[in-house]
Amino acid sequence: MKVADMRPFRKVLEQLRSRLRGDVSTMADTALGTGGTRDHGRSSTKRVHMDDLGSEAFNQEFTLLLMENEEDTLQMVDEALARIRHKTFGSCVECSGIITKKRLEALPYAPTCIRCAEKLEKKSW
Ligand SMILES: [Zn+2]
Repeated sequence: MKVADMRPFRKVLEQLRSRLRGDVSTMADTALGTGGTRDHGRSSTKRVHMDDLGSEAFNQEFTLLLMENEEDTLQMVDEALARIRHKTFGSCVECSGIITKKRLEALPYAPTCIRCAEKLEKKSW
């Protein structure tokens, strides 16, 4: 992938990383919106409101994945940013094949192409 093509992904990933690393209480406030009771505090910290990220790259599937496992997601985001620094972003870490833009738009931190992802998934089952 060309460096210029990586730029929008880097932006998305950086936003995502600061979200994941950021002040959890701020995230909770955003998710709770206004007028909500704050008594539930901690149990609501997992609710991340994605709308204000303002990127069409974030689709429903991605939001769900993010909420399922923030720690893993953060690590994958970090690794994706490292791949951008090394200009290998967009190449599959397994087979060095091309990860399609469509896949990256849905899952900007995807480390593998769809074929390897399927293979890996089968292995772990
Ligand atoms: Zn692959």
